[in-house]
Amino acid sequence: MMYRGSQTVGTYVENPQMNGDDIGKDRGMTDDIFDTTYTEKTGPKPPMKIVWKNVILMAMLHLGALYGFSFLPSAKPATIIWAMVCFMLSALGVTAGAHRLWSHRSFKAKLPLRIFLAVVNTMAFQNDIYEWARDHRAHHKYSETDADPHNAMRGFFFAHIGWLLMKKHPDVIEKGKKLDLSDLQADKVVMFQRRHYKKLILVMCFIFPTVIPWYFWNESLYTAFYVPCLLRYTLVLNATWLVNSAAHMYGNRPYDKNINPRENRFVAIGAFGEGFHNYHHTFPYDYTTSEFGIRYNLTTCFINLMFFLGLASDCKKASKETVMARQLRTGDGSHRSG
Ligand SMILES: [Zn+2]
Ligand SMILES: [Zn+2]
Repeated sequence: MMYRGSQTVGTYVENPQMNGDDIGKDRGMTDDIFDTTYTEKTGPKPPMKIVWKNVILMAMLHLGALYGFSFLPSAKPATIIWAMVCFMLSALGVTAGAHRLWSHRSFKAKLPLRIFLAVVNTMAFQNDIYEWARDHRAHHKYSETDADPHNAMRGFFFAHIGWLLMKKHPDVIEKGKKLDLSDLQADKVVMFQRRHYKKLILVMCFIFPTVIPWYFWNESLYTAFYVPCLLRYTLVLNATWLVNSAAHMYGNRPYDKNINPRENRFVAIGAFGEGFHNYHHTFPYDYTTSEFGIRYNLTTCFINLMFFLGLASDCKKASKETVMARQLRTGDGSHRSG
């Protein structure tokens, strides 16, 4: 056996492309499937280049969020509820929008739903959808190698936030450029958000969450800025990052023991169903990202509701037989994770 990143290659090759059912090939895009042909360059790794501007901004944001906690006791109940609503909306903009719809094409969405998801995605301010999806496809295709933007082999801190504080590894840039992003380029909603991103985040991530409590129920502007804006924003960021850090390190691997992503119930709850990460990396086309449907999975509940309303269609799901066969073939023997 030889190892590349965490993926086992050599005498045993787990190549999902040999098994059409495992890649959801009718999505029009399969560039989120692990590439067994990529090998990291040998020799010394390029030096780490810290981007100090990002370090300072992230430090200020986290200090602001910590300070935000001190406003909680005096905040009006309506402001707390509003902060929770903003948390939920912006999280769905990432999980249902940037992730399950735009990165993986695990379901189809009509224009009104795409517009809604782009608006709430902007509220989450995690780079525009195009960039998010490109990084995320690279994360799946080159998982835990130099070409993975948040390669968890570089440790918890790097996978969590460190990758945003330094220059990308050259392989991330090189491989990212070669990804098939034609579906995103053809999506007018995605490209509109990308074109106007700076103005839109100012409005959706900062002004809108702050102004509503101040205008409608006379909340102090400070509380409105520190709680539904800064604290909420920072919590959504960290919940998302836990999928890249904790869910790549802690938990069991019932579907594929050869990869690092794990089933992590804590992350699943915090990130609206995104913590079933061993399942998700094994079946990236599955719109529930889990074997267990709506359990701990608010994102799946939301997509189901959209399906019921006729705004979502073509929700892809790995069949029970496929999942079971894969568990027997590559799982670690621990079955129940939900
Ligand atoms: Zn992952
Ligand atoms: Zn994914």
